Parts: sequence; C-alpha cells; structure tokens
Amino acid sequence: MKNTIISVKDLVKNYGSFNAVKGISFDVYEGEIFGLLGPNGAGKSTTLEIIETLRPKTSGEVVVDGLNLDKSPGEIKKIIGVQLQSSGYYPGLNLTQLIELFCGLYNRNVDPMELLEMVNLKDKAKAKVKELSGGQKQRFSVATTLINEPRVVFLDEPTTGLDPQARRNLWELVKKIRERGTTVIITTHYMDEAEYLCDRVAIIDDGNIIALDTPDQLIDNLIAAGFDRKKEMKLANLEDVFIGLTGHSLREG
Ligand code: ADP
Ligand code: MG
Repeated sequence: MKNTIISVKDLVKNYGSFNAVKGISFDVYEGEIFGLLGPNGAGKSTTLEIIETLRPKTSGEVVVDGLNLDKSPGEIKKIIGVQLQSSGYYPGLNLTQLIELFCGLYNRNVDPMELLEMVNLKDKAKAKVKELSGGQKQRFSVATTLINEPRVVFLDEPTTGLDPQARRNLWELVKKIRERGTTVIITTHYMDEAEYLCDRVAIIDDGNIIALDTPDQLIDNLIAAGFDRKKEMKLANLEDVFIGLTGHSLREG
C-alpha cells in the first residue's frame, strides 16, 4: 500500500479574473519523486507555492502529511523544504555561516560540513553564494531545503539554465534525497529529466492536469494509440557526444 503524503483536490487559483489553476486534483505518495511537467505559464509554480503555504488558493483542498492547509499552515511549513532564490541569501555570509544561520532559524543542529559534503560543496565551505557557478548555487539551495529534515522537498525548475554536467549532478542529488526517505516534488520542462528522475508525473497545461502516470505507462499509452516515431533513432544523441567529450566529472565544480 502506498501512503499518500500530499493530497490536492479541486484546486483553483484565480488571479483577478484570470483562471490560472482550473480545479486540479492529484496525490503524491510518500517516498516518491513526483514531477509536475508543463510549458511556461501552465500553473506549476502557482500550484507548488499554494501547497508550500506561500500563496493563497481560491478554492479546493490541500492536505500535507495529514495536515489541512486551511487549518495548519504553520505545521505544514515545519515539515517541508522549500528552495530560495540565490538572491534570498545574506550576501556577506559564506556557505558554512548561511547553514549555521538556517540551523538557528529552524532550531536544528546540522553539521554544515556534512551537509556540504552531501551536495558536493565541501571545498566551497568558505565561499559566498555569488562566487558559485550556476550548478553549485542550485546544489547549495537544495542543501538549505534539507536543514529542517523535511518530509517533503519542493524543487521548482532546479535545473533550468544549467549545463548538461550540472544537470546530471543535480539529478544524482535529487536521487540521494529520495534515498533518505524524503518525498520530492519537482517541476521541469526537460522531458529527459522527468523520464530519468520521476516515479510519476502529472502533465499540466493551461491550468489543467491532462495526464498523470509513470513515465513508462505514459509512453506505452502513446505507443498503444498508434504513435510511430518518424525518423529512426540513433543510439546516441548530441548531448551524449557532449558528455562523452567533456566528461561527467564535477567540472562545473
Ligand atoms: P508556470 O510555473 O507553470 O510557468 P505559473 O504558475 O508561474 O506557471 O503561472 C501560471 C499563470 O498565472 C501564468 O499565466 C502567469 O502569468 C499567471 N500568474 C502567475 N503569478 C501571477 C500573479 N501574481 N498575478 C497574476 N498572474 C499571475
Ligand atoms: Mg514556474
């Protein structure tokens, strides 16, 4: 039996007269990586931020780990991990000091070096956020979501704008987080990423969920409906060439 950790029912969000989320329902199971996929403007961030208690909903019901969003937003905040934009960090502090600051805010005792090691940033312990590469910044902001030992981590387009190596490093980090037993909700518009990472995906378009299943099942459904790829696929693509030539190493640091 799968345990539902997030339940969303008939969620609606209007911005004035604009209907951005049109009554969507979905469940996220404990311990899975759940993907919310969709083009820009589909309503992914709006949905995530409502569940994260950061944005008011228009109507519908959201329950996170048995806590109703309307009744217990403060309790929900304590058990979730949310990424900050890199501009949200105190510019004068280094990575160790920022982690210590968060530990104080959350009243937690996390060893900064252990956390930095997990996200492959141990050698940047004394660096400031502005001195990090794009991939390093993302890994640091993922690290900060783990400080309060959350049950669910929300990642909104964590790999957008990253180069192929940095994306792969982040994928491995997301898998590591799930291996610790933490549920992950991630948004992306990279389909290779969703196929590699996600146990199940919801495809959202124009405020509606138009499909929800495992990547495998969605692909099988398409093939069963008679889909045939026009061109014969080669065994590798240009990204494979790029990775093959430049290596998988943590070159972006
Ligand atoms: P996504 O994350 O999938 O790109 P968003 O949830 O950010 O989509 O946005 C969904 C729709 O709602 C878009 O059309 C966007 O322009 C609109 N929207 C988002 N935030 C606001 C806001 N604060 N005020 C008005 N419209 C907004
Ligand atoms: Mg968004």
